[in-house]
Amino acid sequence: MLYINPDTCIDCDACVSACPVEAIYRDQNLPENLSKFLRINAQGAKEYSKNIIVEQKAPLPTVRARLLEIEATQGPMPEARKILDSLLM
Ligand code: SF4
Repeated sequence: MLYINPDTCIDCDACVSACPVEAIYRDQNLPENLSKFLRINAQGAKEYSKNIIVEQKAPLPTVRARLLEIEATQGPMPEARKILDSLLM
């Protein structure tokens, strides 16, 4: 889980639209059923304050690139390709 330090966040909302699973909300827009995460986030940010991301890392490989990597070491995986093709159509 990623924790956002509520003391240093400037509410620019850049992370809100960048999150691929729409898991980040501005405090004021947090749905009521998720309100407990305000406290969980604040506690996590404090607890893990030494594990701060300070540099951008390379993006994770796409699922297709990862399949090619796996096939390079383990051989062809036609069933995985079939499933992947059906999901990405
Ligand atoms: S990107 Fe997200 S966490 Fe960072 S300052 Fe903006 S709103 Fe806060």
